[in-house]
Amino acid sequence: MKTRHDAPAQPVTAHPVTAQPMSLAFEVTVSSVQQLSPTFRRITFGGYSLRDFGVHGHSLDLRIKLVIPSLAPDGSQLPLPAFHTSQAGWYRDWLAMDPNVRGSKRTYTVREARLDGVYPEIDVDFAMHLDGPDNTGPAANWAFNARPGDALTIIGPNNRAAHCITAETYSGIEWRPGLAQRILLAGDETAVPAISAILETLPPYMSGHAFLEVPQAGDFLELHSPADIEITWLARGAAIGRSRPHGHLLQEAVRKAVPEPGWVGIRTDDGGAGPEPEDVNVDTDILWETPARLETAHISATKNPGMPAGAMPFYAWIAGEAGVIKDLRRYLVRDVGMDRKQVAFMGYWRKGKAEG
Ligand SMILES: Cc1cc2nc3c(=O)[nH]c(=O)nc-3n(C[C@H](O)[C@H](O)[C@H](O)COP(=O)(O)OP(=O)(O)OC[C@H]3O[C@@H](n4cnc5c(N)ncnc54)[C@H](O)[C@@H]3O)c2cc1C
Repeated sequence: MKTRHDAPAQPVTAHPVTAQPMSLAFEVTVSSVQQLSPTFRRITFGGYSLRDFGVHGHSLDLRIKLVIPSLAPDGSQLPLPAFHTSQAGWYRDWLAMDPNVRGSKRTYTVREARLDGVYPEIDVDFAMHLDGPDNTGPAANWAFNARPGDALTIIGPNNRAAHCITAETYSGIEWRPGLAQRILLAGDETAVPAISAILETLPPYMSGHAFLEVPQAGDFLELHSPADIEITWLARGAAIGRSRPHGHLLQEAVRKAVPEPGWVGIRTDDGGAGPEPEDVNVDTDILWETPARLETAHISATKNPGMPAGAMPFYAWIAGEAGVIKDLRRYLVRDVGMDRKQVAFMGYWRKGKAEG
């Protein structure tokens, strides 16, 4: 009697394995708009296209691009051209479009993704900045006028791509605490969505601080974390007419929480202080220095060259206005002597400069 094992071999059909692009363009519409506080406006986007969106696991600080429709002279929104999402990638598609109708692309964070339902949705929290023509932009304007049914294109991770198998393999997620048990999260209102999403997923064994600087006390949101994190909201105080300059409170708070010299996980046997970090011109360049992107030359110049990023007991994640982040980078790297492998410094936006 023949068993299954000695059955004649069946001809094997080879299925071509096609490499998937890491990011795709997703056409979505606004499901709902919710004013969370004076500054934060939550827009929920939905669309069947989002079935292919996302990374496997938590979205953490997952960044996406929103393609904001251009406006016609009468103020109406021009329909966005369709992306072909070929192997050449969405960016080439976008560059090839007529600049007058292709819209403006801006970077945002997925605050929450609900992708398993019949109708997948994601939330994006917009920090509204509409005070004066020099201080507003297409994304904030669009969010202010957004109504259910409005269309938009989101560029985000393709969940079929190998890069998106885990959050660690997708380059649009920077949160990489590795083995750290003690953490610091610090940011302004543009980083609040990312910090909020990260906090919700932290394991209970982690401890540390989260500092969130926002325009006014009415912007303090209710945040949750399973970890032992002291969450501190800092209000610049715009509502009472005594506004502190952007970033001052954040800098004060970080300096107090990470005093020099000495902090858990930082070697102090060499006196604590570290080298002056290379200058970054935040008006012309993007300040984006994260352990995952540190150049080899900088890794060997760090305080613990033999220790891989991810093996450090302390990890910090800092994002917001680029000038403020630059000052914090100098403080933490030079004055405190923090190893650059244990901090992500991210200039999310630059005062006086539109995202290009
Ligand atoms: C990885 C990443 C994730 C981000 N996630 C979020 C997010 O989830 N939510 C969010 O609100 N923002 C987020 N941002 C910041 C957002 O991309 C910028 O604020 C962006 O410039 C807004 O686009 P805009 O069209 O409104 O203004 P732009 O056209 O880019 O800028 C116009 C003017 O407004 C000023 N400006 C821009 N943003 C602000 C601001 N927040 N406050 C005051 N003035 C400002 C600029 O300096 C410029 O003078 C993120 C940025 C990055 C890089």
